[in-house]
Amino acid sequence: MDLDRIVEDVIAGKELGREAARALLNYPDERLSELLNATLRVRERNFQRRVKICMLNNAQSGICPEDCAYCSQSKISRADIPVYKLKSVSALVEGAEVAVSNGARRYCVVCSMRGPNEATMEHLGEACERIRERFPALEICLSLGLMNEAQARTLKEAGAGWINHNLNTSRRFYPKICSTHTYEDRVQTVQSVRKAGLSTCCGGILGMGEEDDDVLDLAYATRRLQVDSVPINFLHPIGGTPLGNMRALSPQKCLKAACVFRLLNPTAEIRAAGGRELNLGPCQGELFNAVNSIFVNGYLTTPGLGYEQTLTLIERAGFEPEPQNP
Ligand code: SF4
Repeated sequence: MDLDRIVEDVIAGKELGREAARALLNYPDERLSELLNATLRVRERNFQRRVKICMLNNAQSGICPEDCAYCSQSKISRADIPVYKLKSVSALVEGAEVAVSNGARRYCVVCSMRGPNEATMEHLGEACERIRERFPALEICLSLGLMNEAQARTLKEAGAGWINHNLNTSRRFYPKICSTHTYEDRVQTVQSVRKAGLSTCCGGILGMGEEDDDVLDLAYATRRLQVDSVPINFLHPIGGTPLGNMRALSPQKCLKAACVFRLLNPTAEIRAAGGRELNLGPCQGELFNAVNSIFVNGYLTTPGLGYEQTLTLIERAGFEPEPQNP
């Protein structure tokens, strides 16, 4: 394959063809560094060597009525995790302070729920206003499940900048991982968020037993939806969930997939999310050839690298953290 040509075409705005994307997803392991170097050229074009640090706050844990197979917080999960209702507004503001002190540029508030009711909307709206007042440079992203355009607009007025809602996988594979809502429900939420003028954060999870075509469908879907920020999770199987014994990824496969997402979404933020520690181990730093963003201090119900370790990871790989007040 002519990687130089691919890079030039992507930079010129041409869409990477499906067969080329499939070949890259299966690029020979022994030549992976060539693919990473080529992808880095696209990454650097828009994000130089900067890495945006994000931090999550699980604002309502373990009480979701949905049945997503990978999720420790679903109604069918028997995972041993903390269970609590929506955190107070003050606790959410304190969480923002913790995020800032951990180098975060973006604060991601996540609630396990099908979608927000009126009380939740008011609560989160107040939290956004207070966080915005106190930390004007901090980017606020909310993940509240399914949402319509009017709700997204309300949250935008309160100060949220991003709404996260992942497609998770392909349309075809979706019924295998969830039965309580559809892929289309998720697409509609992403479209509503975009129509409301908010930035979209929408990605997926690799390693759930899907095929290459599902990974490609997901990557092309994020491109078609013009997603602003694409989190890539690498399944961290959790005991007590239906996918608790699933281990399908190698570090090389994770890296190749990250490259394909970057080449299909050259100007979108792409973040390495849950499961990178488990699935990539010592290869995590190589992700920065494709991604420009990363989480610190773990995920919703699984642990992850802390701030200092993440900083070391970024610097050892030859990158630098994005300033908190650019
Ligand atoms: S909707 Fe979200 S919180 Fe609920 S089960 Fe699915 S992934 Fe988990």
